[in-house]
Amino acid sequence: MIPLDIEAVRGDFPILQKPLPKGLPLVYLDSGASAQKPQCVIDKEREVYENYYANAYRGVYRFGAIVDEELEGAREKVRQFIRAEHSDEIVFTSGCTMSLNLVASGWGKRNLKAGDEILINEMEHHANFVPWQQLAAQTGATCRFLPLTDDGRLEMARIGEVLSDKTKIVAVTGMSNMLGTLNPIDELAKKAHDAGAVIVVDGAQSVPHEHTDVVASGIDFLAFSGHKLYGPSGVGVLYGKRELLEQTAPILFGGHMIDRVYKDHSTWASSPAKFEAGTIQIAQAIALGAAIDYMGTLGMDKVQEHERNVLEYAYNRLQEIPGMRIYGPGVEHRGAITSFTIDGAHPEDLAQLLDRKGVFVRHGHHCTMPLHDLLGVSATVRASFGVYNSRDDVDALMDAIQFACQRLR
Ligand code: PLP
Repeated sequence: MIPLDIEAVRGDFPILQKPLPKGLPLVYLDSGASAQKPQCVIDKEREVYENYYANAYRGVYRFGAIVDEELEGAREKVRQFIRAEHSDEIVFTSGCTMSLNLVASGWGKRNLKAGDEILINEMEHHANFVPWQQLAAQTGATCRFLPLTDDGRLEMARIGEVLSDKTKIVAVTGMSNMLGTLNPIDELAKKAHDAGAVIVVDGAQSVPHEHTDVVASGIDFLAFSGHKLYGPSGVGVLYGKRELLEQTAPILFGGHMIDRVYKDHSTWASSPAKFEAGTIQIAQAIALGAAIDYMGTLGMDKVQEHERNVLEYAYNRLQEIPGMRIYGPGVEHRGAITSFTIDGAHPEDLAQLLDRKGVFVRHGHHCTMPLHDLLGVSATVRASFGVYNSRDDVDALMDAIQFACQRLR
């Protein structure tokens, strides 16, 4: 396989061409929080506003028709990208958080009752944790936890202790946003189905970094955000199997989502309109289609290979730092994320000093408080990599950490 042409890729991202004050080059290592945007995505959003903007699914005049066609084109691109069977299984939402809440409230409240169980685990982002906690509180169901191994993987050997015919939902992340752990989704889906449960996959981190095939993996619901996939903020996706979306109640009510409104009651349109009440994220959803085209042009195989190379280099180099603790599994079980602490350096101070060298990382609990509790730390520093990062960025991170450590220790 011809490797990704990293210089060409970097050239696609205008923000990376602009030096920071004092001529410092930007070393962006926070794609796990939100990815930068290639020119084609910026251009697409601009194209909508400059050339044919109108509300969606309302006007028969020509701009309305173009917008509808572009939106349905973007929906079809999402369908192909995650290899879903039908485009009506693709719902545009405001992001991964909303998608997961839609499953918990729309499907969960209808299908769970006291005595039922939801299987989660402590590595989940709050977006794939709190909605299940809330669902349990509202229905009388219980959250069970699949234990984690010492190196931050799901302890699959113990799944029989927590998965049973009481389990109605298995909710799991494709890739941990803190540990980087890649979870065995296909195996979990099979086990969930054997127990009679549905599997809900939080794809916020996995979808931008690896091939997704909802049918081959047996995924029932998949949630992800556009902004982590090099697309605009404000738009996300919920995939649901057709028959499951039919059983899902809408959680937002108003225009576009109805079939017929009477004075005393209303009936709903079918999916996806049923879940897209009001004016949706028109330009953002259309530009998400451009982001997917862009990923297709790079090739997900190449993206995976490139990011693995950068991750391995980072993982090995970071261990040269005295007092370094990297959380999570070895590189063979992880995606392009490293979270760490360094003895004697507070994560916030470290992140601030790295910023002085133009190295942007995130610090804190990364919306994984139960995981930080389990690990016995209140905060970590996270360097997460995207298509535009190279080994040079890792070297810059290393230099910046050395600079910071000289000041902090
Ligand atoms: N799930 C994971 C694993 C994440 O990393 C994030 C965001 O960081 C989310 C869910 C929530 O995504 P959003 O804030 O775009 O809704």
